[in-house]
Amino acid sequence: MISFAYKMKPIDRRRLLKQVGIAALASSVPGSARAYATTFKMPASPADALAILTQGNERFRAKRLSSLQEDLEILRTNTLEQQKPFAAILSCADSRVPVELMFDQTIGHLFVVRVAGNLATPATIASLEYGAAVLGVKVLIVIGHRNCGAVQATMAAKAVPGQISSLYQYIRPALKAGGTDLDEAIRENAKYQVALMRASSPLLASLVKEGKLSLHAAYYDLKSGAVEILA
Ligand SMILES: [Zn+2]
Repeated sequence: MISFAYKMKPIDRRRLLKQVGIAALASSVPGSARAYATTFKMPASPADALAILTQGNERFRAKRLSSLQEDLEILRTNTLEQQKPFAAILSCADSRVPVELMFDQTIGHLFVVRVAGNLATPATIASLEYGAAVLGVKVLIVIGHRNCGAVQATMAAKAVPGQISSLYQYIRPALKAGGTDLDEAIRENAKYQVALMRASSPLLASLVKEGKLSLHAAYYDLKSGAVEILA
Protein backbone atom coordinates (compact mmCIF):
# COMPACT_ATOMS: atom_id res chain seq x y z
CA MET A 1 0.00 0.00 0.00
CA ILE A 2 2.73 2.43 0.93
CA SER A 3 4.41 1.97 -2.42
CA PHE A 4 1.36 3.47 -4.11
CA ALA A 5 1.77 6.70 -2.20
CA TYR A 6 5.43 7.07 -3.11
CA LYS A 7 4.66 6.49 -6.77
CA MET A 8 2.36 9.51 -6.89
CA LYS A 9 3.42 12.34 -9.14
CA PRO A 10 3.60 15.89 -7.69
CA ILE A 11 0.60 16.96 -9.77
CA ASP A 12 -1.51 14.21 -8.22
CA ARG A 13 -0.37 15.30 -4.80
CA ARG A 14 -1.53 18.86 -5.43
CA ARG A 15 -4.85 17.68 -6.77
CA LEU A 16 -5.47 15.55 -3.70
CA LEU A 17 -4.54 18.33 -1.32
CA LYS A 18 -6.97 20.61 -3.09
CA GLN A 19 -9.71 18.08 -2.49
CA VAL A 20 -9.37 18.52 1.26
CA GLY A 21 -9.31 22.27 1.03
CA ILE A 22 -5.65 23.10 1.55
CA ALA A 23 -4.57 23.94 -1.96
CA ALA A 24 -2.75 27.10 -0.89
CA LEU A 25 -0.37 25.19 1.33
CA ALA A 26 0.11 22.55 -1.29
CA SER A 27 1.51 25.10 -3.71
CA SER A 28 3.80 26.72 -1.15
CA VAL A 29 5.25 23.51 0.26
CA PRO A 30 4.65 20.77 -2.31
CA GLY A 31 4.81 17.29 -0.91
CA SER A 32 5.16 18.48 2.65
CA ALA A 33 3.70 15.91 4.99
CA ARG A 34 4.10 18.37 7.85
CA ALA A 35 1.81 20.95 6.24
CA TYR A 36 -0.77 18.34 5.41
CA ALA A 37 -0.80 16.93 8.91
CA THR A 38 -1.41 20.24 10.64
CA THR A 39 -3.91 22.01 8.40
CA PHE A 40 -6.89 19.75 7.87
CA LYS A 41 -10.02 21.87 8.13
CA MET A 42 -13.37 20.71 9.43
CA PRO A 43 -15.75 20.59 6.46
CA ALA A 44 -18.37 23.35 6.54
CA SER A 45 -21.41 21.13 6.01
CA PRO A 46 -22.60 17.52 6.01
CA ALA A 47 -22.52 17.60 2.20
CA ASP A 48 -18.86 18.69 2.22
CA ALA A 49 -18.01 15.95 4.73
CA LEU A 50 -19.67 13.34 2.54
CA ALA A 51 -17.78 14.66 -0.50
CA ILE A 52 -14.43 14.28 1.30
CA LEU A 53 -15.29 10.65 2.10
CA THR A 54 -16.42 9.99 -1.47
CA GLN A 55 -13.21 11.47 -2.88
CA GLY A 56 -11.15 9.46 -0.38
CA ASN A 57 -12.88 6.29 -1.53
CA GLU A 58 -12.08 7.17 -5.13
CA ARG A 59 -8.38 7.43 -4.20
CA PHE A 60 -8.61 4.07 -2.40
CA ARG A 61 -10.15 2.43 -5.45
CA ALA A 62 -7.47 3.96 -7.67
CA LYS A 63 -4.74 2.77 -5.25
CA ARG A 64 -3.61 6.34 -4.74
CA LEU A 65 -3.79 6.77 -1.00
CA SER A 66 -2.59 10.17 0.18
CA SER A 67 -3.17 9.61 3.92
CA LEU A 68 -0.13 7.35 4.08
CA GLN A 69 2.11 10.28 3.20
CA GLU A 70 1.19 12.19 6.31
CA ASP A 71 3.55 12.60 9.24
CA LEU A 72 2.13 10.26 11.85
CA GLU A 73 4.34 11.63 14.62
CA ILE A 74 2.97 15.14 14.13
CA LEU A 75 -0.58 13.82 13.87
CA ARG A 76 -0.23 11.87 17.09
CA THR A 77 1.12 14.93 18.87
CA ASN A 78 -1.54 17.29 17.49
CA THR A 79 -4.37 14.99 18.46
CA LEU A 80 -3.02 14.09 21.88
CA GLU A 81 -5.25 16.44 23.87
CA GLN A 82 -8.34 16.45 21.68
CA GLN A 83 -9.95 14.93 18.62
CA LYS A 84 -12.02 16.64 15.96
CA PRO A 85 -13.24 13.92 13.60
CA PHE A 86 -15.48 15.07 10.76
CA ALA A 87 -17.30 11.78 10.12
CA ALA A 88 -18.59 8.83 12.12
CA ILE A 89 -18.78 5.35 10.66
CA LEU A 90 -20.64 2.31 11.96
CA SER A 91 -19.20 -0.70 10.20
CA CYS A 92 -18.95 -4.46 10.59
CA ALA A 93 -16.03 -5.94 12.55
CA ASP A 94 -15.08 -7.90 9.41
CA SER A 95 -11.31 -7.75 8.76
CA ARG A 96 -11.92 -7.00 5.09
CA VAL A 97 -13.58 -3.67 5.88
CA PRO A 98 -10.66 -1.35 6.77
CA VAL A 99 -12.59 1.86 7.34
CA GLU A 100 -9.76 4.44 7.38
CA LEU A 101 -8.15 2.91 4.30
CA MET A 102 -11.47 2.73 2.44
CA PHE A 103 -11.85 6.50 2.79
CA ASP A 104 -8.13 7.35 2.69
CA GLN A 105 -8.28 9.12 6.05
CA THR A 106 -5.64 9.38 8.74
CA ILE A 107 -5.46 9.82 12.54
CA GLY A 108 -8.17 12.04 14.03
CA HIS A 109 -10.50 12.20 11.02
CA LEU A 110 -12.94 9.34 11.54
CA PHE A 111 -14.90 8.26 14.60
CA VAL A 112 -15.32 4.56 13.96
CA VAL A 113 -17.64 2.13 15.74
CA ARG A 114 -17.42 -1.50 14.70
CA VAL A 115 -19.51 -4.50 15.60
CA ALA A 116 -20.37 -7.65 13.65
CA GLY A 117 -23.32 -6.82 11.40
CA ASN A 118 -22.92 -2.99 11.82
CA LEU A 119 -25.72 -2.92 14.35
CA ALA A 120 -27.54 -0.05 16.02
CA THR A 121 -27.57 -1.25 19.62
CA PRO A 122 -27.76 0.88 22.79
CA ALA A 123 -23.94 0.77 23.07
CA THR A 124 -23.21 1.66 19.43
CA ILE A 125 -25.87 4.39 19.38
CA ALA A 126 -24.42 5.87 22.57
CA SER A 127 -20.95 5.91 20.99
CA LEU A 128 -22.27 7.56 17.84
CA GLU A 129 -24.22 10.13 19.86
CA TYR A 130 -20.92 11.05 21.50
CA GLY A 131 -19.30 11.39 18.08
CA ALA A 132 -22.11 13.60 16.81
CA ALA A 133 -23.24 15.68 19.81
CA VAL A 134 -19.92 16.08 21.63
CA LEU A 135 -17.25 15.77 18.95
CA GLY A 136 -19.35 17.35 16.21
CA VAL A 137 -19.02 14.97 13.27
CA LYS A 138 -20.96 16.21 10.26
CA VAL A 139 -21.87 12.91 8.69
CA LEU A 140 -22.70 9.45 10.03
CA ILE A 141 -22.63 6.42 7.77
CA VAL A 142 -23.71 2.85 8.51
CA ILE A 143 -21.79 0.59 6.16
CA GLY A 144 -22.83 -2.93 5.29
CA HIS A 145 -20.50 -5.01 3.14
CA ARG A 146 -20.53 -7.75 0.55
CA ASN A 147 -20.47 -11.29 1.97
CA CYS A 148 -21.27 -10.21 5.51
CA GLY A 149 -21.13 -13.33 7.68
CA ALA A 150 -23.34 -11.84 10.38
CA VAL A 151 -26.21 -11.23 7.95
CA GLN A 152 -25.62 -14.58 6.29
CA ALA A 153 -25.72 -16.42 9.63
CA THR A 154 -28.92 -14.60 10.63
CA MET A 155 -30.57 -15.63 7.37
CA ALA A 156 -29.47 -19.24 7.88
CA ALA A 157 -30.49 -19.12 11.58
CA LYS A 158 -28.11 -21.94 12.32
CA ALA A 159 -26.90 -22.87 15.78
CA VAL A 160 -23.58 -21.17 16.57
CA PRO A 161 -21.30 -21.42 19.61
CA GLY A 162 -21.28 -19.10 22.60
CA GLN A 163 -23.21 -15.84 22.41
CA ILE A 164 -22.83 -15.30 18.67
CA SER A 165 -26.53 -15.80 18.01
CA SER A 166 -27.33 -12.82 20.24
CA LEU A 167 -26.51 -10.70 17.19
CA TYR A 168 -29.38 -12.22 15.20
CA GLN A 169 -32.11 -10.28 17.03
CA TYR A 170 -30.74 -6.98 15.71
CA ILE A 171 -30.58 -8.11 12.09
CA ARG A 172 -33.72 -10.26 11.82
CA PRO A 173 -36.19 -7.33 11.55
CA ALA A 174 -34.31 -6.09 8.48
CA LEU A 175 -34.77 -9.35 6.60
CA LYS A 176 -37.61 -10.07 4.21
CA ALA A 177 -39.65 -13.09 5.17
CA GLY A 178 -38.40 -16.00 3.07
CA GLY A 179 -35.78 -13.83 1.35
CA THR A 180 -32.71 -15.65 0.02
CA ASP A 181 -30.73 -12.84 -1.63
CA LEU A 182 -27.79 -12.17 0.70
CA ASP A 183 -26.68 -9.01 -1.07
CA GLU A 184 -30.15 -7.50 -0.85
CA ALA A 185 -30.37 -8.45 2.83
CA ILE A 186 -27.03 -6.75 3.55
CA ARG A 187 -28.26 -3.53 1.93
CA GLU A 188 -31.60 -3.71 3.73
CA ASN A 189 -29.80 -4.31 7.02
CA ALA A 190 -27.67 -1.16 6.61
CA LYS A 191 -30.79 0.89 5.83
CA TYR A 192 -32.68 -0.68 8.72
CA GLN A 193 -29.90 0.15 11.20
CA VAL A 194 -30.02 3.80 10.07
CA ALA A 195 -33.81 3.88 10.49
CA LEU A 196 -33.47 2.32 13.92
CA MET A 197 -30.91 4.93 14.89
CA ARG A 198 -33.18 7.78 13.79
CA ALA A 199 -36.14 6.30 15.66
CA SER A 200 -34.34 5.46 18.88
CA SER A 201 -32.08 8.50 19.23
CA PRO A 202 -33.91 11.82 19.56
CA LEU A 203 -30.46 13.39 19.95
CA LEU A 204 -29.26 12.25 16.51
CA ALA A 205 -32.66 13.01 14.97
CA SER A 206 -32.54 16.59 16.26
CA LEU A 207 -29.02 17.13 14.88
CA VAL A 208 -30.26 15.93 11.51
CA LYS A 209 -33.29 18.22 11.70
CA GLU A 210 -31.04 21.19 12.48
CA GLY A 211 -28.92 20.43 9.43
CA LYS A 212 -25.81 19.76 11.52
CA LEU A 213 -25.61 16.07 10.68
CA SER A 214 -26.56 13.79 7.82
CA LEU A 215 -27.23 10.07 8.23
CA HIS A 216 -26.63 7.55 5.47
CA ALA A 217 -26.66 3.84 4.78
CA ALA A 218 -23.94 2.49 2.51
CA TYR A 219 -22.66 -0.71 0.95
CA TYR A 220 -18.99 -1.65 0.63
CA ASP A 221 -17.98 -3.98 -2.18
CA LEU A 222 -15.02 -6.08 -1.03
CA LYS A 223 -13.91 -6.70 -4.60
CA SER A 224 -14.02 -3.26 -6.19
CA GLY A 225 -13.35 -1.27 -3.02
CA ALA A 226 -16.30 0.99 -3.82
CA VAL A 227 -18.50 2.47 -1.11
CA GLU A 228 -22.00 3.00 -2.50
CA ILE A 229 -24.24 5.44 -0.65
CA LEU A 230 -27.67 3.79 -0.53
CA ALA A 231 -29.76 6.46 1.13
ZN1 LIG B 1 -19.92 -8.34 8.23
